[in-house]
Amino acid sequence: MEYRVAFIEGDGIGPEQAAATRVLLTKLEDTQGIKLNLISVEAGDRALKDRGEALSQESFNIIEKSDCCLKGPVGQSAYDVIVRLRRDLDLYANIRPAKPLPKVPCIAPQETDLVIVRENTEDLYCGLESADEEKAIATRVITRKASQRIAKYAFELARTRKRGVTAIHKSNVLKKTDGLFLLACKEVSEKYQDVQFSNMLVDAAAMNLIRNPQAFDVLVTTNMFGDILSDEAAQVVGGLGLVPSANVGDHFALFEPVHGSAPDITGRNIANPIALILSAAMMLEWLGREKSDPTASEASRIIHEAVEETLRSGEVTRDLGGSLNTAEMGNAIAAHISK
Ligand code: ATP
Repeated sequence: MEYRVAFIEGDGIGPEQAAATRVLLTKLEDTQGIKLNLISVEAGDRALKDRGEALSQESFNIIEKSDCCLKGPVGQSAYDVIVRLRRDLDLYANIRPAKPLPKVPCIAPQETDLVIVRENTEDLYCGLESADEEKAIATRVITRKASQRIAKYAFELARTRKRGVTAIHKSNVLKKTDGLFLLACKEVSEKYQDVQFSNMLVDAAAMNLIRNPQAFDVLVTTNMFGDILSDEAAQVVGGLGLVPSANVGDHFALFEPVHGSAPDITGRNIANPIALILSAAMMLEWLGREKSDPTASEASRIIHEAVEETLRSGEVTRDLGGSLNTAEMGNAIAAHISK
């Protein structure tokens, strides 16, 4: 099967990571019999500068007609690209796994294996803000429908894992909005008696992610709490350079690193490409499930194995204490893929 993959290279370190990822995906095509038609799509700060729009209708149409989208980090115009894509393609579930990788220094015990399932379409990120000189107001939108939908996703995911779901909220203060979110999670939990359900205040969750991350399986939460906790979880398992994510809807999905465009290291060819490479692995895993294609699932497994073998070899980028540059890291991972 051949897949049409809309590929947004993004800004900052995005194009450097994209070049390394292309090398790896080409190697995968040459050795594993999978065909990925990577279609370059302009979006982000560069598109805004060159064409006056961060995400043009033309770019949106190409993405919508593809099988899925792989996206690098976008800089200042991130809201106009990713928040619009999440909303207009109804990519309601943001999936952010966090698990230690071989030989990567981190504070999490090795048995840590958690996934943050973040609601992706509402909360404070609806863009409903107003202000005058003295007062600024942001509106937080939480609906029963979106909360139930994300909770259902979390419980289904937990059934394929360690069968635990923790709803993260602040319903003692945000009584109406998080009260409704928690109620919706409890309602859904009743249909999943085989999954252990608990709930935790977001401040306690922030602490426990550091103190006891191995106790979590699936954490389900609202948009902004999920945004913040997933950066924390990424650092707990070794750093932002390693952690991928998926934005999933009922028929389409977009895959991207958790990190941003990292302007502080842009143009130096020192960024770690693994976050984008593992995002490509998540994409292949999704294609394998969605299209019932074992070749795609196997390609995903092979990427994970190649990344782990490379890390075990100890030759890594600077963020992990090594000296490889972005391209060398991509080549090293590709070299671990064989027929
Ligand atoms: P943005 O505003 O686009 O989110 P940021 O710099 O505020 O950008 P990140 O881009 O997420 O936030 O970066 C946070 C820190 O992590 C930076 O110091 C950055 O250099 C580092 N970092 C992020 N991604 C990587 C990577 N792939 N490899 C190495 N370091 C990274």
